[in-house]
Amino acid sequence: MPSSLKWKRILLKIGGEALAGKEGSGIFFPRLSWISEEIRKVKEMGVSIGIMVGGGNIWRGEKAAQEGIDRATGDYMGMLATIINALALQDVLEKRGIITRVQTSIEMKEIAEPYIRRRALRHLEKGRIVIFAGGTGNPYFTTDTAAALRALEIGAQVILKATKVEGIYSADPLKDKEAIKFDRIGYGEFLRRRLKVMDSTAVSLCMDNKLPIVVFSLDKPDSIKKIVLGEKVGTIVED
Ligand code: UDP
Repeated sequence: MPSSLKWKRILLKIGGEALAGKEGSGIFFPRLSWISEEIRKVKEMGVSIGIMVGGGNIWRGEKAAQEGIDRATGDYMGMLATIINALALQDVLEKRGIITRVQTSIEMKEIAEPYIRRRALRHLEKGRIVIFAGGTGNPYFTTDTAAALRALEIGAQVILKATKVEGIYSADPLKDKEAIKFDRIGYGEFLRRRLKVMDSTAVSLCMDNKLPIVVFSLDKPDSIKKIVLGEKVGTIVED
């Protein structure tokens, strides 16, 4: 393992949209291949990797009200969506020879292991990538919060949150041309500005436990590699 690694154990959060094609929904396999390649490079450097996958490319709980169904039911549908994404990602990673385990927070033993913290730690020690699926297993949460929770449980030193944009901006850069990008922002300021890139429950949990978050775009090659080597990529949220 290169001694120059800034982060030796990371929790990579991949939102559902990052797995989708241009239309923003479904699973776009060339995209998954690209992401897997980026992960492979970091794995080869000896970084220990946990991955939390989102489900927004398939279903989001907020859509429940629009369709006249219960929010909690809608949220369970969203959690199941993350499991579909996790299986797709697992397959693409394993085709590249990377050993993975999927652990679900809602038991589904025929297709994946249930989430058991000590078992997840053992997999990581053996150099396997653990893909966490099903979010927290509870409605009214998001996979961002699940990422913060699992990151703390597995002793990750940082959360790397992949988004469509290159970091955290003062406003949505896709809508506002005046938006400026931060290289660094404190947890308190992030929360005060009510920034939308990560949900406030997740950021609060990170703040209370001093867990840094790097928000970055997966579109540029070697982004994850550069981050673990300590290069300034995206925006870091820290104290
Ligand atoms: N979800 C949930 N509890 C969790 C994680 C996710 O209820 O702990 C549901 C929620 O409905 C959410 C959906 O799963 O809208 C998909 O997750 P998320 O929106 O976090 O995915 P992403 O935005 O990362 O694609």
